[in-house]
Amino acid sequence: LSNSLSFLSIMVRKFVVGGNWKMNGDKATIDGIVGFLNAGAPYNNVEVIVSPPAPYLLYAKEKLNEGVLVAAQNCYKVAKGAFTGEQSPAMLKDIGLKWVIIGHSERRHVFGESDSLTAEKTQHAIAEGLSVIFCVGEKLEEREAGHTKDVNFRQLQALVDLKVDWSKVVIAYEPVWAIGTGKVASPAQADEVHKWIREFLAQKASPEVAEQTRIIYGGSVTADNCVELGKLGDIDGFLVGGASLKPDFVKIINARN
Ligand code: PEP
Repeated sequence: LSNSLSFLSIMVRKFVVGGNWKMNGDKATIDGIVGFLNAGAPYNNVEVIVSPPAPYLLYAKEKLNEGVLVAAQNCYKVAKGAFTGEQSPAMLKDIGLKWVIIGHSERRHVFGESDSLTAEKTQHAIAEGLSVIFCVGEKLEEREAGHTKDVNFRQLQALVDLKVDWSKVVIAYEPVWAIGTGKVASPAQADEVHKWIREFLAQKASPEVAEQTRIIYGGSVTADNCVELGKLGDIDGFLVGGASLKPDFVKIINARN
């Protein structure tokens, strides 16, 4: 019975693969990425969401096959106003986007964004009709000090406190020590944290939310390690940085196919 239940949950949670281009690319390189992504489409049984830098959101969206969705890498917590350099969910919706990444470790640790700010942004983005890839993850020193569970739970608790609608959230577990380092989490390390997060959702939201919410892994995912990670029932997809700029990204999209 438990085997068929986990099979069922995989069916309930559509595999989703995001590509975070970070602050990379220009029109010419984006043309190349669009070329291999469109050549690989249509993608079956998997949702594909790429995230270009803000100046290229519309450029990429207009060139990509309809089946490849586009997410912003960030947004602010209000609709408009005197917030130089920011972009609002209302603006993202206005140009036809449905997704935004919030709480990426670079936003948290390079730009100093707090748990409460990331939660407020998430709440506002959802209220404006967007879905959110919400990133969490511990730093190396936090893992080594035995705080992995606490850190991830604390980052998620900020969403619980604001009573966010979990049906609009994909959680990306991205251990900071694995991002851009070539040091991918082992399947056992990733599986352990994904299971903790699902238990957290069952306790703080409901068993249904835990069953239905997609939890994806990010941190040095490549075409070589994605198949093994993708076999795990609690890994519902990936958020990919470096490898999402290369043709191998299509192999990662198809990790479960
Ligand atoms: C990321 O930026 O979200 C990421 C996981 O990067 P990389 O795949 O390059 O480690």
